[in-house]
Amino acid sequence: MLTLTCTLLLAVGAIQTPAPRTPRALMVFIDGFVPDAIATSKTPTLDRLIRNGAWSMRARAESTTISGSGWSTFHTGVHWDKHGIPDNNFSTPNTTEYPSILLRLREKLPKAVTVSAQSWKPIQEFLVAPAQPTHSGYYDYYQFHLDYFDDRSCDELCVNFLRPLLDREPIDLAVVMFGELDGVGHMDGNRHYHAGDSEYQRMLGMVDERLGRLIASIENRPTYDQEDWLIAITADHSGSQRGGHGLNIPEHREMPMILSGGKIVPGKIWPPPSAADLVPTVLEHLGVTPDPAWGLDGRALAETATRKPGAAIGVNLIFNGGGEWDRPFHGFKGQPDASIAGWEDPGWMSLIAYGAKEFLEAPKNTEASVGRGFFAANDTKNGARMEQTIDLTPIKEAFIQGCNFKLSALLGNRGPEGDALRVTVSFLNAKGELLERAELPPLTADQRMGAATMRPAQTLGLVPPDAISAKVTVETPRRGGSHGGFADNLVLVLQD
Ligand SMILES: [Zn+2]
Repeated sequence: MLTLTCTLLLAVGAIQTPAPRTPRALMVFIDGFVPDAIATSKTPTLDRLIRNGAWSMRARAESTTISGSGWSTFHTGVHWDKHGIPDNNFSTPNTTEYPSILLRLREKLPKAVTVSAQSWKPIQEFLVAPAQPTHSGYYDYYQFHLDYFDDRSCDELCVNFLRPLLDREPIDLAVVMFGELDGVGHMDGNRHYHAGDSEYQRMLGMVDERLGRLIASIENRPTYDQEDWLIAITADHSGSQRGGHGLNIPEHREMPMILSGGKIVPGKIWPPPSAADLVPTVLEHLGVTPDPAWGLDGRALAETATRKPGAAIGVNLIFNGGGEWDRPFHGFKGQPDASIAGWEDPGWMSLIAYGAKEFLEAPKNTEASVGRGFFAANDTKNGARMEQTIDLTPIKEAFIQGCNFKLSALLGNRGPEGDALRVTVSFLNAKGELLERAELPPLTADQRMGAATMRPAQTLGLVPPDAISAKVTVETPRRGGSHGGFADNLVLVLQD
């Protein structure tokens, strides 16, 4: 009887667990990738990957929005203040401490077969070559970029290099970087840098067709049935006719990120991911858990479905109100962050680490932990603000009976400078009309007695019965001065 039971269990086990498929990954980089251009261009391959995959059209590029920064973040999975490349000069790269994913993979899986195909010399020198990929195709951009559309273009040469490898070689990770879409956007003084431009559309169509050939090679592999391929696509920045790119504005910073295959749960990724998220996502797919000592800045994406949390009574309705979703920066030097997750952040709201030089230490005796970082307005000349809108419809019945709200935060600044950030909540009706607005009482320099500190502030009120949404705004109350104020632990709670 015992033997029979064991045999049955074995038989059942054999049916339920098919042989695990070998994880493999193709990372694709598209320089200067304007998200709206997917809809305006002929992109059947991208369309298919989006349909079957997880995606965001608002992935957060490095706020520098320049190629050197973004190409390096794509390879390293850390922000520019760590990899040391804020621009295209590569004058102080820190890529020994923060190397390419190609090298990280080899560190954990010494037998991993890695492939690189790209066209930019400093990327080859500082990131690809030190990783000693099994196969490396390098085609200097400046030798081949005179006609972006011909079959001697560096993007085409990268594809020709990769295809025989993808056809049948035992590849673990292939990384390809397409550089020419950005080049087309910049032509004629950035005239072509937008989704409605026919030259830009033509080039994105060519990128899509090249990507399609790479994927066809993968899907025709003799071993494809036993393999589990993750296709992971993103960029360094998007762009516009306003200067091409390089500004810390949404039209330069918000770019596509598309993941297909593996354990990816299809759908829109929320909150919009960071450029630094791609490296840990690919590593986890390949069975490598990033070593905390590597100091990667991102998180593995899309293994579970994510969406904006629904409103409920008695809980904090503000997402990322403590600014703990991303790693804080250590000052305003250069351009300090890659926008605040879950907030509309059109420019210069930043996350700064407690203890950063010339900022402040973590306040003691606060009700809740303050975590690693706080919100700080950087550019007070142009103003800094962020906002998020909370859908209250799931709990609107409670407002008719009478429902209170409490808005609270830690507010502060340093030295003799003005007040703190201004934090407000606005309740809106179905027509988007303002019903009620409440603001946290500002903390003056006198109240702080000139100290670099934060103090708790709160305001209470009644939720208007017709409210269907609440907009929380954080902004510099004034222009000028070097620091526009600090805030942390933003909480909006509704209580009936
Ligand atoms: Zn670029």
